[in-house]
Amino acid sequence: MKLLSKRERVYELIEQRTFYTPKLAELDRETVSVEEVYKLLDWGDPKPEACDECNKGSWRCVQLGQDPDWESSTAIICEECLGKAFDLAWGD
Ligand SMILES: [Zn+2]
Repeated sequence: MKLLSKRERVYELIEQRTFYTPKLAELDRETVSVEEVYKLLDWGDPKPEACDECNKGSWRCVQLGQDPDWESSTAIICEECLGKAFDLAWGD
């Protein structure tokens, strides 16, 4: 289970892409914006993950299940749908 926020995306990209783009190592991973990281990578505008329940993009998603790969059972759920799931599980 992991959070898929802007800050987590920054951490992940700096960890995974510094080998290919050494300038990433010069950034302060606690303060640099995801937009700045994407600009440095020349990737255009960052897009949030899409929720597997409602299909809306959100920077406050949680990844549940296995780490994603071609055959994984993974669900990415936004905070709004997590709230609904919580109500379903804990409601009367
Ligand atoms: Zn959702």
